[in-house]
Amino acid sequence: MIYTDLNTEIDVGSSGHLIEFGPFKALVDCGLHPKYMGHAALPNLSKIIPDTLDFIAVTHTHLDHCGGLPVIAREQNHAHILTSDESYELLFRMLRNSRNVMTKQREEFNITDYPLFSFSDIDNLRPRVMPMGFFQERRFEIDGAGANITFTPAGHIPGAASVLFEYKKQKILFSGDISFHSSGILKGAIPPEGKVDTLIVETTRGSYSRPDGITYDTEVDRFVASISDVIRDKGSVLIPAFALGRMQEILYIIYKAKQGRRIPKDTPVFAGGLGLDIAEYFMRGSKRSNTFTFNKQYMEGVKPLRGEIVPGKDFDEKGIYVLGSGMMLENTPSYAAAAAMLENSNNAVFFVGYSDHDTPGYKLLHAPHGSQFSFKNLFFVGNVNCRVDKFDLTSHADREEILEFIMAKDPRCVILTHGSMESREWFMDEIIDRSPKTIVHIPEPSQSIEL
Ligand SMILES: [Zn+2]
Ligand SMILES: [Zn+2]
Repeated sequence: MIYTDLNTEIDVGSSGHLIEFGPFKALVDCGLHPKYMGHAALPNLSKIIPDTLDFIAVTHTHLDHCGGLPVIAREQNHAHILTSDESYELLFRMLRNSRNVMTKQREEFNITDYPLFSFSDIDNLRPRVMPMGFFQERRFEIDGAGANITFTPAGHIPGAASVLFEYKKQKILFSGDISFHSSGILKGAIPPEGKVDTLIVETTRGSYSRPDGITYDTEVDRFVASISDVIRDKGSVLIPAFALGRMQEILYIIYKAKQGRRIPKDTPVFAGGLGLDIAEYFMRGSKRSNTFTFNKQYMEGVKPLRGEIVPGKDFDEKGIYVLGSGMMLENTPSYAAAAAMLENSNNAVFFVGYSDHDTPGYKLLHAPHGSQFSFKNLFFVGNVNCRVDKFDLTSHADREEILEFIMAKDPRCVILTHGSMESREWFMDEIIDRSPKTIVHIPEPSQSIEL
């Protein structure tokens, strides 16, 4: 078996894994790097000869895992494209949105590569994508050889899957982005039973250890109490959140808090447009799914944010603003909303997920209270007078949980991916410590490893 990590750097980056076993050649994920633009955002697809792939499996519909699919698919006309049943509609919604964003960015930043694909490239995928029911093993045969592929629920976001390849009694498991705890709307991962031979696993949280006594539930509790304090003091709360998954989870938490009278029922809630649209998909999808639930009432009183956001001018209507993006990237509603809100000391900005080191979200989180904060893209500098806090509502498993998962799968070989070098090294040390016979790889980008 040969494994190649097509991510262009040792970091979270853009997901893309090439795996060759017997006569089969499969690509797992083909994402776009959230911080790069143009072709630089793609994994290293030059390693794949046109029309040689048998499978392209998409673990989930975050763009860093699926955003490059139309690019690779049009060069790989014979590949079966596989994704979970729950991901099927979301995949097309996310790709169409990505196409629109690329068109805007082409004009705004003069990125001549953009858009990387057309709407007809997306439409051409529709008949090719094979929705996979969770736990439903499928067999594929090529030149008399057979391979079985099974998708299992990975938690993380609705539709997210781990992917198991079986060939000649060898089991190769891709964890995908994985989370074991259940949130209010989504069940935790249920990986395939038994041991595997090779485990390719995400390491997002490898450099972070959750303090004792802090769990998802205690963080939800602190989050709700903090929102309630701000609303009581006549302030507004900005919650930067990824439009897919995180935003709907936050809206559910607010709904529950209103039901339990911890937040006044009449508190206005505003959300970003894509997030509201995805909530509609969740409502429809959850009727057919037994891994997640999303009911219409969770959206009661949630309004789209309309009107211009002016830096330094606080919102007229006090309320809770749940806006993309989660890392408060430039040119997103949460970035503009922070510039409007941060000078009012009654307001708060609450982060609920991971922020990369060089993003505005990370910088605001680490800016001293009262200091000046520059919104370069808006030509605005404001004082950080509002409260800024972070709540650990991650949709990735803690490193201890992943380590336990690795030990339970007892693989002969582990490949550490989708995390910083520091994160991967933590796992490597721990695995070697606990199981010295296990072969552990931190793959160099684009370098093939024979297993
Ligand atoms: Zn993800
Ligand atoms: Zn990811």
